[in-house]
Amino acid sequence: AEPVLTISGLNVDYGTDAGAVHALRDIDLTLNRGEVLGLAGESGSGKSTLAYAVTRLLSPPGVITGGEVHYHRPGGDRVDILSLAPRELRAFRWQELSIVFQGAMNSLNPVHTVHSQLTDVLAAHRPELKKRQRTDRAKELLELVGISADRLAAYPHQLSGGMRQRVMIAMALALEPEIVIMDEPTTALDVVMQRQILRRLVQLREQLNFSVVFITHDISLLIEFSDRIAIMYGGRIVEQAGAAEIYRDPRHPYSDGLLHSFPALHGPRRELTGIPGSPPHLSAMPTGCAFHPRCGKAFAPCAGRIPPLAPPADSPGRTVACHLHA
Ligand code: SF4
Ligand code: MG
Repeated sequence: AEPVLTISGLNVDYGTDAGAVHALRDIDLTLNRGEVLGLAGESGSGKSTLAYAVTRLLSPPGVITGGEVHYHRPGGDRVDILSLAPRELRAFRWQELSIVFQGAMNSLNPVHTVHSQLTDVLAAHRPELKKRQRTDRAKELLELVGISADRLAAYPHQLSGGMRQRVMIAMALALEPEIVIMDEPTTALDVVMQRQILRRLVQLREQLNFSVVFITHDISLLIEFSDRIAIMYGGRIVEQAGAAEIYRDPRHPYSDGLLHSFPALHGPRRELTGIPGSPPHLSAMPTGCAFHPRCGKAFAPCAGRIPPLAPPADSPGRTVACHLHA
């Protein structure tokens, strides 16, 4: 596997009146070319913060306090994202990496047609395209995401939520980026619509060969649509493995709890027991393994020491941060 995005030792703090709190700690993560990497975890686990940090969209009081993020161009050039100048960053976004935000379907401009919003992106980054070519490309993009080209003249309110979401995906793909990051792009939609959109995205990925980081709290979607899954808790990655491995054999008690929190889309039904308690606040992170107050398997070392993220002895291709697997 060839990496397209590598994150190492990434730390993010949020400044508060009471001092800095850790929002992300020691994040090591690789996105390989052409893969769909799923990022799961309850709200507040750091998933969105990670997306904002690697795209340099983090705003105060969030600050990157350490670590590195590199983008690897096809052909081998390595781009140090954290030290890009603002002008380079603007060119980088959309063209090499694009992001679809949480609630993005509501971020279309209500007073502009789909046509003008799609062609604006093209006009800003592809000045060499003539007006006619921009319109043709906008039609092509709409059809790519399964919307008939005659909807180009529509205003956002004339489209369903699922269509608006697909327009946002079309915009993200407009300049053929190598990486697309989707932060809970479908939570406002019903499960059937979410699956349709995700299936389309995975087809497009195969056709256009981009890589995807897909962020959601619903792990059942990731099991079905991603190649690999990283699970976050309290600002750290606690487990990382192939989607099928996570489904068959979750090693971290939190991963197991997440799998029992959402109805499986396929395969045997699991009892939906959920996870007791609620995720920790950044300002009151438990000592040791942050999951220990909620973990049914907690034992002596758990409250005192942070378990390192490491491969379990019998399975070198995955990683887990739990004292049970040390
Ligand atoms: Fe549970 Fe301990 Fe493993 Fe944390 S380290 S998940 S508390 S067993
Ligand atoms: Mg979020």
